[in-house]
Amino acid sequence: MLDSGAETSADAALLRRALEAADPATLLLSLVQLTGEKHWLEAAKPFIRGPMNYQEFMPEPLRARVRDRLAEVLAEISRSGRTPPRQADDSLLREMMAVATGETVSDDYIAMMREDLTDDNLASRSLKWRKTPGPDALQATQVVIIGAGMSGLYAGIQLQQAGIPFVILEKNDAVGGTWYENIYPGCGVDTPNHFYSYAFEPNHEWSHFFAKRDELWNYFERVADKYDLRKHIRLGTEVVEARYDEAGAVWRITAQGQDGTDQQLTARVLVSAVGVLNRPKLPDIAGLDSFAGPAFHTAQWDRDFDWRGKRVAMIGTGASGHQVGPSLAPDVERLTIFQRSPHWVVPNPNYHEGVNEGKKWALANVPFYLRWYRFQLFWGFADGLHAALTVDPDWPHPERSLNAINEKHRHFMTRHMRAELEDRPDLLQKVVPDYPAYGKRILIDNYWFRMLKRDNVDLVTDPIDRIVPEGVRTRDGNIWPADALVFATGFMVSKMLHPMKIRGRKGRELHDVWGPDDAKAYLGLTVPGFPNFFMLTGPNTGLAHGGNQIFMTECGVRHMMLALRELLEGGHRSIECKPEIYEAYNRKVDAMHARMVWTHPGMTNWYRNPHGRVFAITPWRLVEYWKMTAGFDKAEYEMR
Ligand code: NAP
Repeated sequence: MLDSGAETSADAALLRRALEAADPATLLLSLVQLTGEKHWLEAAKPFIRGPMNYQEFMPEPLRARVRDRLAEVLAEISRSGRTPPRQADDSLLREMMAVATGETVSDDYIAMMREDLTDDNLASRSLKWRKTPGPDALQATQVVIIGAGMSGLYAGIQLQQAGIPFVILEKNDAVGGTWYENIYPGCGVDTPNHFYSYAFEPNHEWSHFFAKRDELWNYFERVADKYDLRKHIRLGTEVVEARYDEAGAVWRITAQGQDGTDQQLTARVLVSAVGVLNRPKLPDIAGLDSFAGPAFHTAQWDRDFDWRGKRVAMIGTGASGHQVGPSLAPDVERLTIFQRSPHWVVPNPNYHEGVNEGKKWALANVPFYLRWYRFQLFWGFADGLHAALTVDPDWPHPERSLNAINEKHRHFMTRHMRAELEDRPDLLQKVVPDYPAYGKRILIDNYWFRMLKRDNVDLVTDPIDRIVPEGVRTRDGNIWPADALVFATGFMVSKMLHPMKIRGRKGRELHDVWGPDDAKAYLGLTVPGFPNFFMLTGPNTGLAHGGNQIFMTECGVRHMMLALRELLEGGHRSIECKPEIYEAYNRKVDAMHARMVWTHPGMTNWYRNPHGRVFAITPWRLVEYWKMTAGFDKAEYEMR
């Protein structure tokens, strides 16, 4: 907040500049929350065009009135020291959410939004004991978490809040998981950061709306420090196997240090927080080993590789390739890009933008501004898109789109591609997908099309025949010479948790239960026969249309903590979900996916297995997953 000297002219000028730089619609929502003055909502309604883009339609006189009133309210708060009111009633929240998003928002969102608007976001998400367990019970519930990335850190924070002892084993020599490992040029997030951050740990200082790798990694580093997690983390320690010991109701864990020495640990509870996009997949192309120059995967980028003046061939045009290509193109002699199938690419005006100081100030200082901004992002990048992903059985063009909204998205993106490539019909015909929008991972335009038009860039769509020492040979017999090869070819997602061996009751290994490519879990978290074992970012919890993976982890951890409460308070030794609950849940997941874009036959994606079952991503709206995980029904679990 402004300090008590807010009335000085310097402070007033600072406040004015900040409010002018902030988003007017988000300011308006903050103002309504602070004052309960509903008439602002009425004033905004005629200008709503969707969650993110109606700000520009708000006329300046209305913006100015919002700023003036807000300045007055903030000055009054600053003067009086009065705490801003925290809650709006359901009907006001409902109306505010409708104004925030530009559409009617179902009542499902009220409880979730209310939680987000609370003052102490960590406490509101933390476990509340009904009868606090004694130190012995807590001590007997030692937890081992595998992985110190985004999920492992959060699980650690929540266990710490609850007083449950834990150790985090991390194979790398630093925390941060994917944001530590990936150092390829251009690496960054394409979910906006004010949404892609822990709900309880907002960062008002993101330099960009879509931060790059170093800033993201630093964020997780800071979180590890701030919550004093490092004393619980063993770096350079890779879990090889975990075996459930039924007699002792404990997990016996074998990990390997970087020097190859084995470490044995015992834990009552095992948590996998290994992520899904961490085991690079090299392409199954003949002659890979014959290439004469350096060749590496994007996730194993060679820090010493100097691409300037080189001829680089890049295979793959997914989210990683989409960031690498434009980062290399200006400096290489030649960039040859091999595209097997095109992706839908959406423009976003903020993608390359920095966050100005005024906006940062508003995020940090205007009460509720950040929360309403997050909700707008939540809608624009996640739940607001859901309707576009669901099949309308009566839609007359099922081969190219799913429904009228999905068709609109298709037109919007096609228009963008046409505008970018209007002078290059040869490229345009290569890049516009024929399958429905969102069928493969959606990409945000990273100046991709401008890059394709460069004189030193080739987009090759002829299938690759083999790698040869001097480059890449395509089936038409052409050899595309290269000094270096970059594989932007994705990850071994279908082998979730690979190469670890997780052995549950009767020694059954998790991958034998799942088969080679059919990972399943209840709520993405638990599998019958694997007591006291929880997976974060587990089966069917990934996000494909946008969304925020951190949100999914926060939901998963909450449910896990509720299970641990049941375990501890009940004095049980083990908890596992019942087989019939697991089966019924997965039937629901499959039935839902059958109606969604990712099962469309017109494209491949990494979300489904060769039998057509989508195993990696969620079919649910985020709010549905929030609701499913926020409660805990004892009847769904077996306790022993
Ligand atoms: P990916 O989406 O799986 O893309 C792999 C690319 O390699 C595809 O273009 C694929 O073609 C191609 N490919 C694979 N094998 C090939 C072969 N044998 N011959 C020719 N081409 C081949 O992998 P990714 O780009 O690393 O992205 C994976 C996921 O990581 C993303 O979907 C996203 O969830 C996440 N990610 C996010 C960001 C971000 O937030 N900005 C950045 C990077 C990654 P096909 O499409 O034809 O299979």
